[in-house]
Amino acid sequence: MLEIKDLHVRVEEDPSEKILKGVNLKVNEGEIHAIMGPNGSGKSTLSKVVAGHEAYEVTQGDILFDGESILELEADERAHLGIFLAFQYPVEVPGVTNKNLLRQAYNTVAKERGRHELDPLEFEDYALEKLKLIDMKKEFMDRSVNAGFSGGEKKRNEIFQMAVLNPRLSFLDETDSGLDIDALKIVANGINEISADDNAVVLVTHYQRILDYVTPDYVHVMIDGKIAKSGDKDLAIKLEDQGYDWLTNAASVNG
Ligand code: ADP
Ligand code: MG
Ligand code: MG
Repeated sequence: MLEIKDLHVRVEEDPSEKILKGVNLKVNEGEIHAIMGPNGSGKSTLSKVVAGHEAYEVTQGDILFDGESILELEADERAHLGIFLAFQYPVEVPGVTNKNLLRQAYNTVAKERGRHELDPLEFEDYALEKLKLIDMKKEFMDRSVNAGFSGGEKKRNEIFQMAVLNPRLSFLDETDSGLDIDALKIVANGINEISADDNAVVLVTHYQRILDYVTPDYVHVMIDGKIAKSGDKDLAIKLEDQGYDWLTNAASVNG
């Protein structure tokens, strides 16, 4: 589904500084990947570049989705293809209810794909089903998007948005950070419920903790703008025991 080839990225504000320095990654349908790594290694940048964030410039390499390059597509066009990014710091959108924003997003995609668009009542029924996944009440949908949400509620809302929009490829950036254990379990459970044979999830996380509840098929470690090592869930366990230093040192020895 997703193929990232030798991706090099810099920020437009500071063209001298490369952030991604040759990232390769393949994600197939039905898979859960975890991207781990120290702070500042480029994890969030990778997620944002795939989603089409405009602050970043691809200087080399390509990103293919279903075999076609998406580099020329705007963020909203990528979203319509089914690429979803839950931001590390979710924005607040006062005045727009969660429900209205999501119905609009849902219907935009439905229209593009020639599917039935939901009227407000139909959408309410549909969304109520999804709310159960994150163990929240109906009122949650009627609140302004993220305004006054606690940290945990914002994270649950990301999972709710993902459940409603049913994306093909989801990047969840630090969705686990700052959650207490109960909220973490709810979020993890939501991810497990949403994960299916026809979609893929990429969990971007500094900590191994959420991987106790969501089992990734692949774990990748990003160091200094490159994927320094890939493995299975055992790699995450090793990282929890030994930290990132053994990889950082190996990366600098190898240049
Ligand atoms: P991570 O998510 O792994 O902590 P980031 O992708 O957020 O890492 O950042 C990687 C590096 O790129 C950091 O040094 C960060 O300061 C820099 N960076 C990321 N985005 C920008 C930006 N928009 N402008 C300037 N520097 C950036
Ligand atoms: Mg699966
Ligand atoms: Mg980050």
